[in-house]
Amino acid sequence: MPSPFVIPIFIAHQGCPHQCLFCNQRSITGVAEGMVGTREVEETIRTQLAWPRRHPDASVQVAFYGGSFTGLAMERQRELLGAAQPFLASGQVQELRLSTRPDYVTPEIAGFLRENGVRVVELGAQSLDDRVLVASGRGHTAAQVRTAVAFLKDAGIRVGLQLMLGLPGDSTATALASGRQAAELGPDMVRLYPCLVISGSPLAELYRQGQYQPLSLPRAVALAGRFWRIFAAQGILVVRMGLQPSAALEKTVLSGPYHSAFGELVLSRLFFNRVRAELSARSPLQPHRLCLAKADESIYRGRDNINVKRLVALGLLEGVETVFSASQPRQSVILTSGSG
Ligand code: SF4
Repeated sequence: MPSPFVIPIFIAHQGCPHQCLFCNQRSITGVAEGMVGTREVEETIRTQLAWPRRHPDASVQVAFYGGSFTGLAMERQRELLGAAQPFLASGQVQELRLSTRPDYVTPEIAGFLRENGVRVVELGAQSLDDRVLVASGRGHTAAQVRTAVAFLKDAGIRVGLQLMLGLPGDSTATALASGRQAAELGPDMVRLYPCLVISGSPLAELYRQGQYQPLSLPRAVALAGRFWRIFAAQGILVVRMGLQPSAALEKTVLSGPYHSAFGELVLSRLFFNRVRAELSARSPLQPHRLCLAKADESIYRGRDNINVKRLVALGLLEGVETVFSASQPRQSVILTSGSG
């Protein structure tokens, strides 16, 4: 099944009275603060439904992103969800999804969302370590993440968890423990975001005062790779790594592990580790054939062919013929002795 066609609707900072240290919501979504009205919701859906689609048979989701949806007044929630109802009723849209905070989910809210066509809720969990949550100014606890996941699952809603890497007060050990606890909750999907220093956020001030040091890009890539493996081991999909690049975001990143293709860097690094492990285990006395999926060629090579250069530097490609096959399944690494 192709991935759903997602129609995003940004409700920047609406409904959120908090101020997490890392957040300047306007920079992250690239949308000025303001009230998204029902007419705009309807027009956005109508316009995007009219666009030609790569996979016309893919299901269509309308996604309310960028704020804490269930923190809005009930009347506003009804209005916004109501604007999408005619499209659900006509079958042009199959599901609604939204993002919110864990402490804004109760069994009643979960039931209300379900009745209104919401089938996926992404929770901004960020961490499952209470100390880190306090240091980041999140204003909710790890226990509230756990109960929110349970309430949503009980209502028949799929759950996504958004987690951040490199938060104030976090370390590699506490982050990995948090990642493992998040995986134990059995979310349907996960998004990983490295913590960036965004201008206008309280974190920017701490950074200026020398009280916060973001992860370097290589450390963030390595940590994201370890998270990816934790979730992959449980069959949990990591649907995104790194913030969606945008000109507005790039202008406001003061420091931190920002890269427009962060997820690709992580996948490429993971692939390199796998290939290196396979090649390291072979007998160097015999020629070998390394067979990879054609569709994996770019993540195998990495940016500027960096992975291949590293393998060459390690002497691991000596006597190895590399073949890319269109018929081989993605993510598979087949090493056989003998060439051609
Ligand atoms: S809860 Fe979300 S929207 Fe509100 S300040 Fe924190 S990150 Fe920003």
